[in-house]
Amino acid sequence: MKVYKFGGASVKDAKGVRNVLKVLETNGPKNKLVVISAMGKTTNALEEVVNAYLHDQNVQEALQPIKEYHHEIMLEIFEHRDAPVFQKVKDFFADLENFLAHNRSENYDFVYDQIVIYGELLSTTIVSSYLSAEGMKNTWLDARNCIKTDSTYRDAQVQWKETQERIIEQVDPQALTITQGFIGTDENNFSTTLGREGSDYTAGIFAYCLNADDVTIWKDVPGVLNADPRVFRNPSLLEQISYEEAIELAFYGASVIHPKTLQPLQRKEIPLYVRSFIDPVTPGTAVKKGQPILPKIPCFIVKRNQVLISLSSLDFSFIMEENISHIFNLFHKFQMKVDLIQNSAISFSVCVDNKFNNLEKLINQLKATFRVTYNTGVSLYTIRHFDDTAITDLEREKKILLKQTTRETVQIVAIP
Ligand code: ASP
Repeated sequence: MKVYKFGGASVKDAKGVRNVLKVLETNGPKNKLVVISAMGKTTNALEEVVNAYLHDQNVQEALQPIKEYHHEIMLEIFEHRDAPVFQKVKDFFADLENFLAHNRSENYDFVYDQIVIYGELLSTTIVSSYLSAEGMKNTWLDARNCIKTDSTYRDAQVQWKETQERIIEQVDPQALTITQGFIGTDENNFSTTLGREGSDYTAGIFAYCLNADDVTIWKDVPGVLNADPRVFRNPSLLEQISYEEAIELAFYGASVIHPKTLQPLQRKEIPLYVRSFIDPVTPGTAVKKGQPILPKIPCFIVKRNQVLISLSSLDFSFIMEENISHIFNLFHKFQMKVDLIQNSAISFSVCVDNKFNNLEKLINQLKATFRVTYNTGVSLYTIRHFDDTAITDLEREKKILLKQTTRETVQIVAIP
């Protein structure tokens, strides 16, 4: 069987939903599990609902455009306005509003997960109903009944054993199953999410548990490119890369594949294809075991809005293992992802991602032990398989704050 994943961009409008049908018709709807993200920018819009709710602002104002957006797509793709899908969608919004009315928790991450999951529930309900209306038999599966996690809201960790048991019990590998990416539930059945862009990971989890033949991520780009087309000019398609290369690229911030996705696939050597839903006959990129990158060209990755923190000891003593472990405990405590480390005898620099907005708290605690300087809003550039031209091109018109070179990779922290 095969696992497909369609991201938000591929189902952002009526045309996108119709295209899912086309891709499934072309490749055959049997033996497929299809993971779908929230439509377009719905998760961002739901984040606005979370913020409005927790800041006592007008929630309806934030919710209304989401309702209208989905309603318009449904009006375009469904002939009958009394089709049951309209009621199902209404019911989801009613559930969401019911949560908002009765919730007592002020825990941002918890509230966030109880709200944003509706993006995926809505999109999959609409796509599944559309496929049925067009005569393509399928089963809508609530991924929350399968993907069991701990209670780390917004970054939930999968409980593999229970998840595997539930998936095997609930998925018919011979049929067509439509399910949500990104979402799960904890032991109390509260909703959890796997981190932004987590739908790829969901596809990897299902593929692993079902021993799938392969996974295809359908995207609005031709495959994995050597650079983000929104940032770099003339990117080229990578025809094939190894799992290791893909993990490295994802780790450094390439947004094509969610970093966690590859781990389960690699363990069972399940190939991953990244293909264009706009041009579904082209092969895209194949990610497999041990194959060298082809073509071998430099790969450019940028992470914006990073923080460069430099620490030195207050008494100019050496920064030793003990201090370093203390520093890392703090990064862990404040959920700061460390992207680069450089140390000398008396100073220690790190580039971190302030994803959870804990910078101020972290800096305050660090100041108790260290002299601290930091720059916010810096960019972290990474070039894999670099050459001199690639570095010169990248460094042009930038203020370089830090540079680190290893055998295959150069990393540069710079403004802008
Ligand atoms: N809808 C979620 C997000 O926008 C998950 C995903 O699309 O992968 O982050």
